[in-house]
Amino acid sequence: MCKENLKRYPIPDKTMTVYVKPVASKVPKVAIDDRVKALLSDVSTDSIKSKLHKLSSYHTRHTKSKYIHEVAQWLRSEFESMGYNDLFYHKYNENIDGTDYELKNVICNKKGRNNKWVLICAHYDSRMERIDDHTSSAPGANDNASGVGAILEIARLLRQVDLEYGVQFALFSGEEQGLLGSKHYAKFVKENNLSIYRLINLDMIGYPQLNAGIVLIEKDDHSDPAHNQVSGNDEDSIEFARIMADMSSYTDLKISLDSIWNSDYEPFEAEGYVVVGAYDGSANEDQNPHYHDSSDTPSLIDWTYLTSVTKLVMATVLTVSKIR
Ligand SMILES: [Zn+2]
Repeated sequence: MCKENLKRYPIPDKTMTVYVKPVASKVPKVAIDDRVKALLSDVSTDSIKSKLHKLSSYHTRHTKSKYIHEVAQWLRSEFESMGYNDLFYHKYNENIDGTDYELKNVICNKKGRNNKWVLICAHYDSRMERIDDHTSSAPGANDNASGVGAILEIARLLRQVDLEYGVQFALFSGEEQGLLGSKHYAKFVKENNLSIYRLINLDMIGYPQLNAGIVLIEKDDHSDPAHNQVSGNDEDSIEFARIMADMSSYTDLKISLDSIWNSDYEPFEAEGYVVVGAYDGSANEDQNPHYHDSSDTPSLIDWTYLTSVTKLVMATVLTVSKIR
């Protein structure tokens, strides 16, 4: 458990996202094996839907709300019900506005044949426009039950798959309050010398209405040093994003390449890890009235798109963690 308060990250605000044109190429440069194709066809929209509905059924998943520990418990039980037994709460303390909170990240390990890990992460907390409003309804369906739902579906399908690299599923708390969970967890993995080979962050992947059919793949090449603290990991991130973009050939998605900013990959980038993200580009307060609002409900979700993004991420994970 971490006792100290670490460096403060600003409250994540992605409303200034700049859109770029989708990449045209549909010719896969990285071929995938038939077993990967079979697993992709097993991705179930109904399964993702039921997880997302359950998460959005909590009145709020605000960090300060009375529901937040119950949500963590439910997430943990989901991994257990899939048959995973190597899982834990990564607990940490943070002082928010003068009050101490003990919060939990939910971490589940799927061991590989070697001791390197591909980490896929998403935050499970939600918020309203007013950052400390922990009593209003905040279903956070797109932000970010969508990312959590995709991870639970990938975990379900990878349970019995033999992989060279381990896959770690990390569900973070406190993202909306300034990347709290990921900040503490990045420090924890660094201190414990956990070998994180690659990291994929999923934050808002189910509401493509501002960018029809396009998913933004965020790579570590930001020109603002606040979002790119280490330069030695940029080249590998750009290459990793290219592999992920290639995987779109196995889905109906178009790709737009963007840069990482304001989500849970940042504390890992700052520790030197190789990170990318997937994002639907909808965190725009002017164009998306549902962002950080009670109206971010499951009825907004484009299930076909969310299923495709889940496939894209799973194909990427299987490619880099090497199916045996
Ligand atoms: Zn989010």
